[in-house]
Amino acid sequence: MKIDKKIKYYIPLYILFVFVSLSYTTNDIENTKKPDVSYFTNSKITDGPYFFIDEDNSVTVKWIKRSRPFETKIKNNNHRKIQRKIGFTFDSTFLDFADKQSIDYKQEFTGVDKFIALSDIHGQFDLFAKILLKYEIIDEDFNWNFGKSHLIINGDIFDRGDKVTETFWLIYRLEKQAKEAGGKVHFLLGNHELMILNKDFRYVNEKYLLTSKLLELTYDQLFSENTVAGKWLRKQPVVFSINDVLFTHAGISPEFVNLGITAEEANRKFLNCNYSLVKDSLQMFLEGTYGPLWYRGYFTDSTFTEQKLDEILHYFNKDHIVVGHTTMPNILYLHSGKLLCIDSGIKTKQYGEVLIYENGEFFRGTPYGHIIKL
Ligand code: ZN
Repeated sequence: MKIDKKIKYYIPLYILFVFVSLSYTTNDIENTKKPDVSYFTNSKITDGPYFFIDEDNSVTVKWIKRSRPFETKIKNNNHRKIQRKIGFTFDSTFLDFADKQSIDYKQEFTGVDKFIALSDIHGQFDLFAKILLKYEIIDEDFNWNFGKSHLIINGDIFDRGDKVTETFWLIYRLEKQAKEAGGKVHFLLGNHELMILNKDFRYVNEKYLLTSKLLELTYDQLFSENTVAGKWLRKQPVVFSINDVLFTHAGISPEFVNLGITAEEANRKFLNCNYSLVKDSLQMFLEGTYGPLWYRGYFTDSTFTEQKLDEILHYFNKDHIVVGHTTMPNILYLHSGKLLCIDSGIKTKQYGEVLIYENGEFFRGTPYGHIIKL
């Protein structure tokens, strides 16, 4: 009985992946109703699903199949309808349509024996999944296989690459599966998530511009407050800690500390944020060059010293800080190991590493499974 229930729960995304991956090679059906997509003539795209929660609490699902837009409305939890329409098993336990949980603004986690962190995936789903499989974080069916350990996605899954949607839903599902297993998935907002929410589409892959055009929505509207994906993004912090390690997408600047901002205050500005409102000065600072989503001073400011880093860590009462955002050839362990830089270039599609923490020690892991002590 229990096994049946589990299998039912695992099926939806697996079938979605098959569905999506098949669609990449499908170019066979001539469609007379093909919309004007003259700038994307060589291949037909498949993308989605995008779930919209309507005012009457029904759900509209939209997706693209072979460059054609589809949508269907689910009323009275009519999951069979969407199953038929999209071709994958739909189970209400998979999606959160309501905001049930109270929000944790502090985001402090302790007593964690093992975690693995990676950053700046930028739509490179294939390499991302390959790395997760290599480190047995997922099994071959993309299910959580990491027990009570924690997985950290240090921001920037959006933009550049063409498998952002797949990356998003995999992380979304792993978060739920990890929780059931007593583990946890952490996701940090990166500047590229922020850019989408702020309607800055400079780095959006052409495929998603086409999705938007076909659905007659702007790309940010696919992640608005009334969507499942948008609600989820608005639950993700910009700073959190595990044991003595602080995590943020780009870095905590000395200016952040000088302003006396706490992690809790920073997270409060982004959790449940209404991005269309006029921003106050704290929000402007947090979203700016010296804020935790954009700061590059650790690498570009020649006056930045280990002493300055000590002051930042002392302010948070932590011993290490993990950042992504600035791409390095591999994971770096700087300033006596207090600064760990984990954007190792997954966005290039060629190579990328993970940061492994086990019983207080740090290691870097290559995509081939080689583990190197830091
Ligand atoms: Zn970034």
